[in-house]
Amino acid sequence: MFKKKLKEYIDANVPIIYINSYDDNDVENCILEVTGRRKVWEWNQMVGLVNRKDIQKEKVQSSQEILNDNISIDEFLVSGVKEREFHRKVIILKDSTAYLDNLKTVALLKNACLSIERGDLDTVFVIISPIIRVPKELEKYIVILEEEYLSEDDIREMILKFAYEHMAGNVYEKVLNKMVIAFKGLSTLEIETILSLAFSRNGELTEDAMEWIMEQKKQMIQKSGILEMVPIKESMDDIGGLNTLKEWLRKKSVILNDMSSAKKFGVELPKGVLIAGVPGCGKSLNAKASAKLFGTPLLKLDMGRLMGKYVGESEQNMRQAIAIAEAIAPCVLWIDELEKAFAGIGGNGGGAEVTTRLFGQFLTWMQEKESAVFVVATANDIMKLPPELMRKGRFDEIFYVKLPNQFERKKIFEIHIGKRRPDDLKEIDTSKLAEMTDGYSGADIEGVVKDAIEDAFVKGKTKITTEDIKKAISTTHSLKEIMGESISKLEKEYKERKFKSAS
Ligand code: ATP
Repeated sequence: MFKKKLKEYIDANVPIIYINSYDDNDVENCILEVTGRRKVWEWNQMVGLVNRKDIQKEKVQSSQEILNDNISIDEFLVSGVKEREFHRKVIILKDSTAYLDNLKTVALLKNACLSIERGDLDTVFVIISPIIRVPKELEKYIVILEEEYLSEDDIREMILKFAYEHMAGNVYEKVLNKMVIAFKGLSTLEIETILSLAFSRNGELTEDAMEWIMEQKKQMIQKSGILEMVPIKESMDDIGGLNTLKEWLRKKSVILNDMSSAKKFGVELPKGVLIAGVPGCGKSLNAKASAKLFGTPLLKLDMGRLMGKYVGESEQNMRQAIAIAEAIAPCVLWIDELEKAFAGIGGNGGGAEVTTRLFGQFLTWMQEKESAVFVVATANDIMKLPPELMRKGRFDEIFYVKLPNQFERKKIFEIHIGKRRPDDLKEIDTSKLAEMTDGYSGADIEGVVKDAIEDAFVKGKTKITTEDIKKAISTTHSLKEIMGESISKLEKEYKERKFKSAS
């Protein structure tokens, strides 16, 4: 599909094709392939001007012949147009971040585009860059093309080909299936690199390579700078209370764990959940535990990081984030502090307009989504969110998380004492502690337990007791004390809007 589009754009003489990719090799091979007998030159900061294609009578070969190792981008653009050196060529421009901020270079590129538009030059520029930076002046001459992610079948074929070529022996079907999933969302070059490294470490492609592959994949996703792969430690057993929400997530896990049967039965693929409510009461904990429950990776989308300074950059980042998540699916995509991300929607000015467009993009995706990307969005104050987000068809359900009740507080005490001082737990009166902590959040309770343990250690005690924790409680202010009024206001609003209680 990528190759086909690239060829169409080149044939249509689009002045500048901007390819968003951090895998130069892969993209260059495609360019050399689709340009047929057309000449290809490349300019890059390190080497200067390079002839990338040798065209002899019958054969077309890729080449690395240096034509001028001393030419700056500006000189190159001037002579290329003036001497018509660009005519009938495809010109690859690398290292664009170094000059697309420069007014003079942008003006020279624009001048070349005008010549192409008038029909004086038959040239196509291809900019390859991992970041999108489209100067306003060039907007109308540029089309953006993104590298597409490989399908499961393509990845399978690549691994088998690699194993065959390197005589890596048989790759067991079970390991192969796992590897295919692990490689989703990575480019050809990235997969090849990881395979070579895994092979040179182990001498074969076995189960042992898997952990290492996951680690490499994590790094590569992080390098994209938009999504973060969050390590998952927490499970549903680490969450005290919130039983309605947990039960709801368990039902969704049955569907996600057997999607093909569910689909055949007529079940719709789950879209995701919005969890709103007071801080420190387990919203993030649920996002993490749901990934563990579904047995999928957890990707965190930081909306702040999406915002770019150049025209179209933020939208592009959003598209890339969605593409990576879909390529990795099944996965959980966690969007934290949703209200902050979409604050200012509908307002005036550049920033607000970009946010509004991003929001529209997100809504459309949620509405039409058919992939197994389960979105967990968390928000403290949902009232700041635009009402469109709450309409049916976006999230499967909206839950609100309140301050824990007495029963839940007892469970939370048990979890946090059990994690740190399991032997002391049986002698501690958690019912009494729960009774004393009305208005405390889960995070408050965790804080109290930590304080008590630290204090006991400093005083040289060998264990902690109910009294130690009671003392820590007496010196702590609960969330209700601090945020009382705003908490009751929010709860009232949630009830009026008929959101489901997570407890
Ligand atoms: P924020 O809106 O501030 O991000 P949050 O609701 O996402 O808050 P979490 O990050 O899930 O809160 O909780 C903070 C910490 O408090 C957790 O790491 C956990 O240790 C503890 N905690 C909160 N709620 C619970 C709970 N229901 N059961 C067990 N621990 C909890």
